[in-house]
Amino acid sequence: MSRRLLAGVDIGGTTVAVRLADEDLRSVARTSVPTVRGEPDRAGEHVRDAIDAACAEAGAILGDIAAVGIGVPGQVDPDAGTVSTAVNLDWEHVHLVEQVEALLGVPCAIDNDVRTGAEGIRAQRLLGDIPDFMYVSVGTGIAAGMVVGDRLLYGAHQLAGELGHLVVAPGGPRCACGQLGCLEAIASGPGVAAIARRAVTGGAPSLLPASGEFTAAEVYAAAASGDGVAEHAVRVGADAIAWALHAVGVLIDIPVVTFGGGVTTAGPAFFEPLEQALDRVRSTSALAAAVLPRDLVRPLPAGYEAGTWGAVLLARKGRVPSGARATPREGVGDRSMHR
Ligand SMILES: [Zn+2]
Repeated sequence: MSRRLLAGVDIGGTTVAVRLADEDLRSVARTSVPTVRGEPDRAGEHVRDAIDAACAEAGAILGDIAAVGIGVPGQVDPDAGTVSTAVNLDWEHVHLVEQVEALLGVPCAIDNDVRTGAEGIRAQRLLGDIPDFMYVSVGTGIAAGMVVGDRLLYGAHQLAGELGHLVVAPGGPRCACGQLGCLEAIASGPGVAAIARRAVTGGAPSLLPASGEFTAAEVYAAAASGDGVAEHAVRVGADAIAWALHAVGVLIDIPVVTFGGGVTTAGPAFFEPLEQALDRVRSTSALAAAVLPRDLVRPLPAGYEAGTWGAVLLARKGRVPSGARATPREGVGDRSMHR
């Protein structure tokens, strides 16, 4: 049988999500398996097993896979096909492309997971025909993929878009990176939960468990129910994101921002406080209002999963030299993957 399926793999801190799509970018399977942390020498095997599970769902076999694209949460060198560091996976200097290609015998391309998501959105024109936008993932961490002049930004060390480590509150809470007051330490899921936890364990009355054992999802739900402690935590997180967007705005004047990631699945409980926070920042100066236009935050199509679709697109594009990345207008009209 001829190889006909593209495998898009989105490696997360807790699950590895796989989407298989045919040549016309129609989804034929979407599965997830638990992430195996550590074991860098077996990373390729774990990716193969995750793809195998998706093949089973699709009634296919590994021999049907034509190409693999993988988004990895960490510092990735797409040209070398290596993961420099992925803290949440406990990986360092992993030759992931080499491992996967040796096991599956087909081309494999990798990139940072959030950049992969941004590139998928760009290539499919999911936000319309716009040359400049930023995709921000808010979950366990915060990161961004920035598209400027219709090209994805990488930076000299593949670190462009590390929005989560923008310091928005000098001297604030300690971030996983070691710095104080990073956006991620305040506005990620664990960051918002920690703000609420400090209040609750300090005796503030709240619907949240007094033990302090609760998740960010519970904080957003409690805030939507009018719980004061939760509302405060969500507001602090929203303000931090709004000021980070202000910083990005005055630096590179990006007119459109779209969000993904686990925390944003709170829906209106995430987006309404964010819009209110953006209004507070807009009211501070005419410049702030100009760099944060009213329609700054745009939704992605309902149900669209940037991580796996971006990885499918990466599989289709394959590994290309950095000078030839992000061919403008590639994929225009590929709308068949909205489902
Ligand atoms: Zn940090």
